[in-house]
Amino acid sequence: MDVYGLIGTPIEHSLSPPMHEAAYEALDMDARYVTFEPDPSDGARAVEAAATLGLDGLNVTIPFKESVLDVVDPDPLAERIGAVNTVAFEDGRPVGYNTDATGAVRALRDHAGALSGNAVVVGAGGAGRAITVGLADAGLSVDVVNRTVERAHEVAALVDDARGHGLDALGSLVPEASVLVNATSVGMESSETPVPAKHLHADLTVLDAVYQPLETQLLSDAAAAGATTVDGGWMLLYQGVAAFEHWTGADPPVDAMRQALRADLTEN
Ligand code: NAP
Repeated sequence: MDVYGLIGTPIEHSLSPPMHEAAYEALDMDARYVTFEPDPSDGARAVEAAATLGLDGLNVTIPFKESVLDVVDPDPLAERIGAVNTVAFEDGRPVGYNTDATGAVRALRDHAGALSGNAVVVGAGGAGRAITVGLADAGLSVDVVNRTVERAHEVAALVDDARGHGLDALGSLVPEASVLVNATSVGMESSETPVPAKHLHADLTVLDAVYQPLETQLLSDAAAAGATTVDGGWMLLYQGVAAFEHWTGADPPVDAMRQALRADLTEN
């Protein structure tokens, strides 16, 4: 039997197990996906333990995405972002990937087609870093907007064509943008929005990384403005799909994974 896992804390409400196990079932794979909650100081040791025990792949979530870099060989994208959410054991060697970046870009392309022009990324934490690098690599010019402006500058410095700003820049940037991403936690289990509705417009594609609830206030305002909306469930799906690809090399059963994830997201 193949065993895949996830390390993080807290982990009890993770949506990854049903999504990955739906893929194993769809492909008739003899595999399980197990969650582990190590002490927050033990991320690197947990990856070493997974390698020793012969796990076939590992997902990594908060608070371990940065600390596991000490014990994996990051691929160039994960190295630039400075965070890993997927570890594959390639000839026993742990290799780190960041599928949050590729997952966000795939979610946007799925809904908007080809991406071009200017993107505004609100948030400069882990998700903001990954999405900024992903969008810049996809050819967009990026403005990073964050409550703590110093962090926005740090994230913008990761790529060539990006600038950092404070929240007061939203009013001038969003009306000119083609893509808007919320990579803050604002809107999670609340009706707050990080971007005032008056700045939204019909030529925008809006991705909200928040997935609880799926329809955030930002997405509801964006839909009312005629924008194309992409909920955080799509990013979550495609980061999982990319992890599955790294681990198995198989063609992922995207529909089965999407259905399992949506069932869980709408239940919770
Ligand atoms: P994080 O590293 O803790 O960063 C949090 C970000 O939110 C920072 O930019 C922070 O600004 C900002 N923020 C927090 N409270 C704020 C407020 N009241 N007003 C304005 N800005 C505020 O978290 P993360 O890992 O990047 O995650 C961010 C969100 O993305 C979470 O909701 C997470 O669930 C979601 N996410 C989704 C996926 C997916 O697959 N859909 C993947 C990863 C993350 P400061 O720097 O000023 O503190």
